[in-house]
Amino acid sequence: MPFSSLGLTGSLLLAVAEQGYHSPTEIQRQAIPIILAGQDMRACAPTGSGKTAAFALPLLQRLSKNPTGSRVGIAALILAPTRELVLQIAAACQRYAHFSPHPVKIMGLVGGVSLNPQMMALRGGADIVVATPGRLLDLVEHNALKLDSVRTLVIDEADKLLELGFAVELARVLDQMPQDRQTLLFSATFPAVVERLADTIQRTPISLGMCSSPTMPAVITQRAISVDPARRTQLLRHLIQQHGWSRVLVFVATKYATGHVAEKLRRAGIAAAAFNGELSQGVRAQALSDFQAARLQVLVATDLAGRGIDIAQLPVVVNFDLPRAADDYVHRIGRTGRAGEAGEAVSFVTPAAEAHFTLIEKRQRMTLLREQVPGFESTPAAIAPDVPVTIGGIKGKRKSKKDKRREAMEVMSPAQAIWAARAVKPEQQKS
Ligand code: AMP
Repeated sequence: MPFSSLGLTGSLLLAVAEQGYHSPTEIQRQAIPIILAGQDMRACAPTGSGKTAAFALPLLQRLSKNPTGSRVGIAALILAPTRELVLQIAAACQRYAHFSPHPVKIMGLVGGVSLNPQMMALRGGADIVVATPGRLLDLVEHNALKLDSVRTLVIDEADKLLELGFAVELARVLDQMPQDRQTLLFSATFPAVVERLADTIQRTPISLGMCSSPTMPAVITQRAISVDPARRTQLLRHLIQQHGWSRVLVFVATKYATGHVAEKLRRAGIAAAAFNGELSQGVRAQALSDFQAARLQVLVATDLAGRGIDIAQLPVVVNFDLPRAADDYVHRIGRTGRAGEAGEAVSFVTPAAEAHFTLIEKRQRMTLLREQVPGFESTPAAIAPDVPVTIGGIKGKRKSKKDKRREAMEVMSPAQAIWAARAVKPEQQKS
């Protein structure tokens, strides 16, 4: 099926051709007509499925049919949980708007940089704003933009943004928007609790690619290697050298570990850098662009890099530490094997993390053979209880604050959850 059969205008068809897209991906084929018709939609799209274009193309088309007229508000708002993802989506929207016959003002708004230039740039409104919720609210509070003219709201990585941790901010954003807007939710996973919350912010949405359990792009080869915790950096070096991996994204459990592991690799002559939420925005952006431009061979990251970031030709993802939550496994390994490329996901499984990895396997409905790499065989007997088994601990050993919040959310109704997040009792809500 060609793009031209989806009802997109000539300028958008030129833009997709310029991107080298020959035909729409499955999610684009299904979502574009629904979005163009103005309906609410909930799409469970695997990572790398082309979901950005699936919402950006119809948004741009609807803008061209209904220009905002007044230049004070914004017509479409796209929310994403990380700064990198926001900037990536904004850049994609710019590319898709390249041949538009009228100027389209698209802005990516993230924290970590000064507020003033963003306030200046927002003068006169914008057509499409892509933002993290925190920075968006900062700008609303400074009267730099208004949300009362938003016709379409897109929430990317919706499972993350509907989590209780983001719910306070999201509820405040939603309060400022018209009730009769179009709301589109995209995510690689839709746990039941997120579905219940989503029900409170959408009107009879059409659901696409239903996935009660996470879906896995088929092109990713998954491996599990048994190894003792203290040997993991050496094993990583060995695998990089043995397989000649040109570019590797390595996930670790803590911010500290990103620096620690990157440093050890650098000492071994491997171009590696850390990537975590505590680094300044400039350092984060530099690390990501160096990695994308192949100036870095290894990026050692926390789960911050697990969401949505599109790195072309990333052949390997390594779980140096296992993710705490099973769903994060899908997000992490989805960084490889994007847009049909082949990818490999390697998980290091220490003896003490074996039970946790079995849980992840159960959740993903898969069983992986435990490999032993000669010279790095694990020795279960050597694991004493006081030996740190992962740098950041594993889920199930001791409940983190996040786990406790998640559990609390499981037993709450969606409305209660949002109210709890706002720290306001239901009876105090205005009717
Ligand atoms: P996304 O899931 O939006 O992050 O997209 C993943 C990658 O797929 C990006 O590099 C896009 O440029 C690419 N892509 C999106 N749509 C298509 C398409 N129809 N054909 C080929 N590649 C695409």
